[in-house]
This record gives sequence, structure tokens and C-alpha cells, in this order.
Amino acid sequence: MTSRLVISSENEEFLARVNELSGQVITLCDQCGICSASCPMIDEMDVTPSQMMRMVQLGQSEVLKTKAMWLCASCFTCTVRCPRGLDLSRVAEALRQTTLRQASDHININAIPRDELAALPQIALVAGMRKFTG
Ligand code: SF4
Ligand code: SF4
Repeated sequence: MTSRLVISSENEEFLARVNELSGQVITLCDQCGICSASCPMIDEMDVTPSQMMRMVQLGQSEVLKTKAMWLCASCFTCTVRCPRGLDLSRVAEALRQTTLRQASDHININAIPRDELAALPQIALVAGMRKFTG
């Protein structure tokens, strides 16, 4: 017998938006946990990649407050191992895009003291700005 997840229309809308932006069918995730077991960034994340997928499946927009979506390095390890063929790096990117479209950013350049800014390696700063800002 198959069971269908029942979520509110607001949550349904959030799930549909992330599906569309990522090009993935997130409900296909069966929570096997292979992505979490494979992720090189897991120790730094506040939720695991599979938890991130579950939150999106449930339409929980609180996922946008997690650090994990910013820390996904798009290394594709989970993508090549996912038995459902899901590309989690694209899901993380969709979540980042959703946040950036709300004019919210992970890095506030103006909040970094000038002396610290001067000491930062420029290449790291440029790479970080490309990933973390719109
Ligand atoms: S490996 Fe794929 S199916 Fe398994 S939990 Fe991760 S995203 Fe879901
Ligand atoms: S693509 Fe992201 S979530 Fe997947 S293993 Fe790499 S860092 Fe982890």
C-alpha cells in the first residue's frame, strides 16, 4: 500500500518552488541517508543533507535558516551515489537562490571590519561572494 504525504497548501507551494528551481522531484527521496554518509561537509552542517531533503519534502521553509545549504560545496559525491538519482547540490542551490531573492544574504560585506577585509585572501573573498551572494 502506498501512502501519500499530506502537507498544507503553503508547504506544498514551497516544495513546488524548490522542485521547480532545482529541477528535481524531491518527493522521490526515500531518506536512505547515503547522501549524509557520503558528504565531506557533514561535520560542519547543522542539519544533514538527508534532513535537508526531508524538510523540503515537508515544505518546511525553516530549511532556509539552516547553515547546511550554504555549506554544500557542490562536490556531487551524493549526486553520483543517490539511488534515486537526485542532485542534492541543485537543491541546495535552489534554497540559496530562494534566500537571495528575498534580499537576504549569507555574507554582509559591510559588516566585515576594514582591517579584516584587507587581510582576507582576495581569491577566497571573490569565490565566497560568487557562492554566497546574488
Ligand atoms: S541519497 Fe538520495 S534518496 Fe537517499 S536520502 Fe539522500 S537524497 Fe534521499
Ligand atoms: S554535493 Fe553538497 S550535500 Fe552533496 S556530498 Fe557534496 S557537499 Fe555534501
